[in-house]
Amino acid sequence: MTIKERYQFVIDYFQEFAPDAATELIYDNPYQLLVAVILSAQCTDKRVNLTTPSIFDKYPDAKALSEASVEDVFSLIKSISYPNNKAKHLVGMAKMLVEQYDGEVPLTVEQLIQLPGVGRKTANVITSVVDEQPNMAVDTHVFRVSARIGLTRNAKTPLATEKQLLKNIPPELVHKAHHWLILHGRYICIARAPKCPECGLQQACIYFSKHYEYV
Ligand code: SF4
Repeated sequence: MTIKERYQFVIDYFQEFAPDAATELIYDNPYQLLVAVILSAQCTDKRVNLTTPSIFDKYPDAKALSEASVEDVFSLIKSISYPNNKAKHLVGMAKMLVEQYDGEVPLTVEQLIQLPGVGRKTANVITSVVDEQPNMAVDTHVFRVSARIGLTRNAKTPLATEKQLLKNIPPELVHKAHHWLILHGRYICIARAPKCPECGLQQACIYFSKHYEYV
């Protein structure tokens, strides 16, 4: 199977079986999504979704959050990983939104990565989820699943994975492909024990052909 055929197989599969793939974070607007994505670093979406309602209730917009004390924010997010840093980042991020963007979330990667707590991955998530921009956020699931299937070859960093995926996925599908790969990694192609026998991508997957060829 050529690399082109492999991509086509994977895209066709997900378009058929996961046409509506989307983030599992619960949010109503770009501000809420940004808060949720910052909180989701090294933390499950499930836990983030349990935490964000109280934040959104107390700080419904960037202005309210910009006026919060770090201690108060910390008390709301202490069940999440790295609460100290994340509380500082949230308040710092909100201050910058108010000072530079009139409280709105900017929608370019270049602007977003200037905000406290926002790296390339978060900026790619925000711009692709909110605006369907063809930006591929590479988290641990996307990195692992892409390598196992063989969508990437010898990609040693998230940026290398991002570049290879962008080269091969049609731009209009990139924002969906991000969710396809994350959800597949979360529920089927899990890190320790991928559920290969029940996976619909067997035919296109290099990992499968190596590990199950003679079974
Ligand atoms: S066949 Fe196995 S390794 Fe390949 S994508 Fe499916 S679960 Fe992952």
